[in-house]
Amino acid sequence: MCCSERKGKLKKGLIIAIDGPSAAGKSTLGKLLAREYNYTYIDTGAMYRALAWKAMQLHISEDDENSLVNLLRQSDIALKNVQKDGELEIIILWNGEDLTPFIRTPEVSMAASKISALPQVRITMVELQRIIVGQGAVVMDGRDIGSFVFPNADKKFFLDASVEERSRRRFKELKEKGMQVEYNEVLDDLKKRDKNDTTRSLAPLIKTDDAIVIDSTNKEINDILSSMKTEIGGFNKKK
Ligand code: C5P
Repeated sequence: MCCSERKGKLKKGLIIAIDGPSAAGKSTLGKLLAREYNYTYIDTGAMYRALAWKAMQLHISEDDENSLVNLLRQSDIALKNVQKDGELEIIILWNGEDLTPFIRTPEVSMAASKISALPQVRITMVELQRIIVGQGAVVMDGRDIGSFVFPNADKKFFLDASVEERSRRRFKELKEKGMQVEYNEVLDDLKKRDKNDTTRSLAPLIKTDDAIVIDSTNKEINDILSSMKTEIGGFNKKK
C-alpha cells in the first residue's frame, strides 16, 4: 500500500497512546501502526534512555535531579523516523549527535528507569513530549502516555505480557545484538524496572479505565495489530 493510500485512512491528527511494561511489544506494534497510518512514532523510552546515557557520560549521578533537569533543559532532543528495509527505525539525536547505538544496553535501561522516577525530570520530559507531538498524527509509546502525558488521547492501548515472556523476548533481543547476558539477570532487571515504574510518586505505570488492555503473551504480532486496527477504525467511525 502506498503512502497516499495510507493517508486519509485516519482523520489527520489522532494521538494513539500505547502504554505498558518493558518488552510487552509496544515498540514493535507502535512502529507497525505508525507505518500503517503514515503517522509519526514517538518512543518516549528512548528519550529517558538518551538522558540517562548522557548523564552517565557526564558523570551526573542518577539521583541528582537538578543537574539532570538542567542537562535536559540545555539540550535539544529529536526523534527521527527513518524507513529502512521496509521497516521503521527510530534515530535519537541529542544536540544533533546520534545516540541510537548506545541506549539499549542493560546499564542504560536501569539508569533510565531510575532517573525517570524523579518528578522534575518527568515534568520536564513531558513538556518536551507535548511540544514534539504538536498537532498529533502520532503513535506514542511509554508508561504514562494515556494517564499523564495525554489523558485525552484519542485511543489508548495497554499492552501487557507475563514477566517471564517479556524477559525471554528481551534476552533474545540482547543476545542477537551480541551482548553477554544471562536470562535470570534480564528477569531480575525487568522485575526491578516494573517495580520502579509502578511505584514511583509521579505518573506511575497504570491501566486507565478507558484503555484497551491486550495481553500479548501467547499472541502473534499480526493478530494483535489487526485487533488494534479494528479498535482504531471503530473509534474513528464513531467520531
Ligand atoms: O520503554 P523503554 O524500556 O525504552 O523505557 C526505558 C525506561 O524509561 C523504562 O524502564 C521506564 O522506567 C522509563 N519510561 C518512563 N516513562 C515513559 C517511557 C519510559 O518512565 N513514558
